[in-house]
Amino acid sequence: MKKIIIIGGGIAGLAAAYRIQRKISSGTPLECSLLEGGDQFGGKIATERSEGFIVERGPDSFISQKPAAIQLCEQLGIADHLVGTNAGTPSTYVYTGGKLVSMPDGLSLMIPTKFLPFALTPLFSWAGKIRMAFDLVIPKKVDESDESLASFIRRRMGEEALRKMAEPMLAGIYASDPETMSIGSTFPMFVETERKYRSLIIGMLARKKAMLLNANKRPANNYTLFMTLKDGLGEMVEAIIKKSPDIQFQSGARVESISGKEGDWCVKLEGGGENKADALILATPGHITAQLLQPVAPNAAEILKQIKYVSTATVTLAYKREGFSHALDG
Ligand SMILES: Cc1cc2nc3c(=O)[nH]c(=O)nc-3n(C[C@H](O)[C@H](O)[C@H](O)COP(=O)(O)OP(=O)(O)OC[C@H]3O[C@@H](n4cnc5c(N)ncnc54)[C@H](O)[C@@H]3O)c2cc1C
Repeated sequence: MKKIIIIGGGIAGLAAAYRIQRKISSGTPLECSLLEGGDQFGGKIATERSEGFIVERGPDSFISQKPAAIQLCEQLGIADHLVGTNAGTPSTYVYTGGKLVSMPDGLSLMIPTKFLPFALTPLFSWAGKIRMAFDLVIPKKVDESDESLASFIRRRMGEEALRKMAEPMLAGIYASDPETMSIGSTFPMFVETERKYRSLIIGMLARKKAMLLNANKRPANNYTLFMTLKDGLGEMVEAIIKKSPDIQFQSGARVESISGKEGDWCVKLEGGGENKADALILATPGHITAQLLQPVAPNAAEILKQIKYVSTATVTLAYKREGFSHALDG
């Protein structure tokens, strides 16, 4: 029987394990173990449930436009635990000029698609608004080379759009500097929109129209753009482990090195111990995968080393509701 070892027990490794479990359940003869270096499974997903609070130390939601996470929840039988954002409190605020200013209504991936709210918003100066509207006439980029997120937004919509929208809304997702982020890797939909429609505003309006037309054809679902699970994203981790009885999940099993070749791999653990496998799935962060691959696939390791990582800290604060007189819109 073929043996597969998955290295890394974050959501990527766990999803791979569940996929293999489904193969085993449908009769494919496979043996599989997942080796996780830490004490717990889930990787960046770390849900703490304490004193009635659900605290996410890492990710708190996923985007429903990419269907994989929703599909996984459906397969795991936890789709009835999915919760969306609160429709009654849709505002997003940007802290600028010493106060919170609400984003205008009608922004689609930060591109304005409604004239009036955009024209009236105090978030942008008139010069900034006029510069953003230039997007309607600016020609598209001729060559297909990559550029930074900052350069792309500056070129199409100007400096103010970059500082007040792209930086907080888009670069924030990656905890990164828009001057060093590749637009092609992080927001390829903008590049595609420019190539197809020239203008981002025209492109977003066309997409919105197409979505409205298609809405009648698709089965109705209640998914909002961001979705999470009732008891936190940790539910996904717990469900995968519970529903994968044929996978051997090992925590505290940090892989030190891999050697061998396709069909004959040897995985060495820190502190001793060896495992043999026909195939490996590496689901570790890029820089760790690079170290592991260096002896067996140096070219791939060099590419992986180029992916930059930053460290982040998550601070969660809880307040009593009665301390606020307003409706908590946002
Ligand atoms: C604070 C924060 C908030 C985020 N918010 C969101 C969000 O809201 N929505 C969203 O979609 N994404 C979000 N992300 C990104 C998302 O969490 C990650 O992209 C995703 O969880 C990565 O999953 P992964 O399985 O690829 O890697 P990881 O979760 O990093 O898992 C890798 C695993 O490999 C293990 N490992 C490492 N080295 C070894 C080794 N040598 N041997 C064995 N095991 C090893 C690690 O212990 C870890 O468990 C956020 C990230 C952070 C940090």
